[in-house]
Amino acid sequence: MRGIVWLRRDLRLNDQPALTAACEACSEVIPLFVFDEPLLQSHVFGSACVSFMLGCLEDVAASLARRGVTLQWRRGEPAEEIVRAARAWKADAVYWNRDYEPGAIERDRAVQQRLGRIGVVVRTFKDHVVFETEEIRSATGGPMQRYSAYRARWWTKWRAVKPIALPVPRLLTAKKAASLPLPPPLPSASDLGYEPVALPIEPGERSAQKRLRQFVAGPIHTYIMGRNLPAVDGSSILSPHFRFGTLSARAAVHAALASLTQGRRVSRPDVFTWIDELVWRDFFQQILAAFPHVVDRPFRQLPTPAPRAPGAERDRLYQAWCMGKTGFPIVDAGMRQLNQTGWMHNRVRMIVASFLIKDLRIDWQSGERYFMQRLIDADVAANNGNWQWCASTGTDSMPGHRVFNPLLQSRKFDPEGVYIRSHVPELATVQTDHIHAPHLMTHEEQVLVGCHIGVDYPSPIVDHRQAREEYLALVKQRGLR
Ligand SMILES: Cc1cc2nc3c(=O)[nH]c(=O)nc-3n(C[C@H](O)[C@H](O)[C@H](O)COP(=O)(O)OP(=O)(O)OC[C@H]3O[C@@H](n4cnc5c(N)ncnc54)[C@H](O)[C@@H]3O)c2cc1C
Repeated sequence: MRGIVWLRRDLRLNDQPALTAACEACSEVIPLFVFDEPLLQSHVFGSACVSFMLGCLEDVAASLARRGVTLQWRRGEPAEEIVRAARAWKADAVYWNRDYEPGAIERDRAVQQRLGRIGVVVRTFKDHVVFETEEIRSATGGPMQRYSAYRARWWTKWRAVKPIALPVPRLLTAKKAASLPLPPPLPSASDLGYEPVALPIEPGERSAQKRLRQFVAGPIHTYIMGRNLPAVDGSSILSPHFRFGTLSARAAVHAALASLTQGRRVSRPDVFTWIDELVWRDFFQQILAAFPHVVDRPFRQLPTPAPRAPGAERDRLYQAWCMGKTGFPIVDAGMRQLNQTGWMHNRVRMIVASFLIKDLRIDWQSGERYFMQRLIDADVAANNGNWQWCASTGTDSMPGHRVFNPLLQSRKFDPEGVYIRSHVPELATVQTDHIHAPHLMTHEEQVLVGCHIGVDYPSPIVDHRQAREEYLALVKQRGLR
């Protein structure tokens, strides 16, 4: 029996259910990746995300090659390419791990039907999440909509099921390799129409495992404090790996729990708080699967405060936000980090999102799209869920009346301005007293540090206090909470 394993967001060999099942059932296994041409042309994702994916593909291709198996690849419309490959290679079955994005669900259904018509069997597997929507239901049997309740059930389920993480399939050897012509080398980012970029995070399964080992050996045990400090190595920085499946969430939970019995300075609250972030990840995946309307509309259809500015003025404010030229150093540092590296720290993601939505009163979907185009870990479920959380339109959202104060956030989470200085070079010489609000420097102080506000660095594009009051008045007027 000949089986194709269609690799998608699962670019690894460890704990790979589709690959393991194919190795067990088939005498010949053909791993295949399809570059989705319509998706690539849409530029929904940006160069950082595409470059990271290519790095992961190179890595998984090398790991397969070491076992005598070749990664095949094609480029085109995925449904067409899979059916064409199944026909050309006379495959009996196609194996894949499930994807919960509405477009992917539709695509997979179409592929399954077309393969069925030519007599090719399809086997699909849970992989991307620890628990799928159907596995964790509310008391009435529907999908869960509150994170806190979901979290409690997630943990009950974990203890009951104890999901296992599979090893690399033992049977994955040269004996499984089908004799097919070798594919050309994998394309580069430029071949795909994207700019090659220097990645801030090393792609591939081995790098993911190395980082996981480092993280659970140290930073995870101070995560509650460390995760909020953008200048500190306090969070795992594994999100692009979870996004492309170079690391499985199951394996990560096991590693985190195991760290409680291994180190000398262990902290249960920190470890469980970190795992709860993976629960958030599952939560947003199941929200997307159960409520696909969130892709185009708010989860909760609420009256939204009117935009602050129309037409050209709105565009000016939006451009200032995108370029990191708002005059609010913590916002600008975050946006510049995003633009330059494809990465932004979670605390800063929340600050810049609140600023866009509540200070500038620009629709959250514009921010969501911009993040998708820039983030290395761009993921529909997590990005949409978090933007809706910040916009107070989501499931368990931030209350509508809560507006982050960029100055207080900056003082609290980047007290010395280390993060700001590393991303906003024109503020490098500004003293810590003024780093969070450089526009408050006197003329003499500006001359002294060589940073002229309005010339070298912008004045604030809005008055935060006034913007907050206006926003809250609109929230009250529209009966929002
Ligand atoms: C406006 C906004 C947009 C976001 N867009 C994305 C996105 O496109 N892709 C993405 O992966 N994350 C997104 N996040 C969530 C979060 O910022 C990142 O997952 C986190 O910064 C990744 O860093 P880390 O790997 O060090 O996370 P850690 O703190 O180490 O957490 C471990 C893992 O848990 C998951 N996780 C953590 N926080 C969240 C969260 N709030 N929601 C869902 N999963 C989470 C991630 O997979 C992460 O790698 C967004 C957050 C905000 C506020």
